[in-house]
Amino acid sequence: RKVDLVYTRVRTEEKLLLEALRRRDCAVNMVSDSGMALSMDRQPPSEADTVLMRSMSFTRARYLATFLELKGLRVLNSARTISLCGDKALTCAALAAKGVPMPWAFVAFDEDACLDEIERRGYPVVTKPVLGSWGRMVARLDSRSAAEGVLSTRFGTGGAQDHVALVQEYVDKPGYDLRVYVIGRAVGGLRRRSEHWITNTARGAVPERYEVPVLHAKLAEAAAEAVGGDMVAVDLLETRDGHVYVNEINHCVEFARSIDETGVPLPDLIAEYVVGGKR
Ligand code: ADP
Ligand code: ZN
Ligand code: MG
Repeated sequence: RKVDLVYTRVRTEEKLLLEALRRRDCAVNMVSDSGMALSMDRQPPSEADTVLMRSMSFTRARYLATFLELKGLRVLNSARTISLCGDKALTCAALAAKGVPMPWAFVAFDEDACLDEIERRGYPVVTKPVLGSWGRMVARLDSRSAAEGVLSTRFGTGGAQDHVALVQEYVDKPGYDLRVYVIGRAVGGLRRRSEHWITNTARGAVPERYEVPVLHAKLAEAAAEAVGGDMVAVDLLETRDGHVYVNEINHCVEFARSIDETGVPLPDLIAEYVVGGKR
């Protein structure tokens, strides 16, 4: 197979993926997303038949995947998956369409409308940017005054046409959240433990080994299917009384901080998946 690996930065993940692909006799071409200029026609940009999309930019990943698919390439993940996972409001819609359990959520486009709906549903709630990652700007609102503060910032900056607030039910987790890797199927997972309610490893949560029970594996696979994801990390929130919800789906799987703890050989599993499938 000939693979173009599109990257923003060559991090540990990209290095390990490159090695795993080369071990499988793939001809891998490293392509920087900032150096690309893609014409909107069906002309293939390279010899590659498959593109492993590792761009860290949602804008670049989504457009590049779209145009590369137009050119007949197999892109992992697909443009559709990237579009749905990169936007948390659209992820919620895709999950809801398939009846996948998730915290209740709503979107609003105006500060007063948003505050009214929060007041109607009651505190605490969580609000987060529809585009974003690594736990940045995820906020828990425990009171009306906190909501006013956060919403005035959210709605007071940038253009009014572009304002959108995603508000979610706050899930009282038992000190951790769960991540299940779906590479074609659920292949393993990770528990992220933290004193803080925001449990991103980028924010200091400690990764722990987690034997994924069948129920969680099935839920993660249903979530991946809802967004058409080939290789995704599905984040689950468990409640203290054992209910489990899908919180978000990450289309560019990161594992550098957790590969030792999980014991899940993700570079090999991903490379295996890239090599398999139709040519
Ligand atoms: P990001 O893409 O930035 O990781 P997430 O939606 O995954 O955004 O939120 C980051 C973290 O915040 C989650 O891993 C979880 O620990 C916490 N969190 C997010 N939403 C909720 C929620 N509705 N209830 C409880 N905790 C949440
Ligand atoms: Zn995320
Ligand atoms: Mg997350």
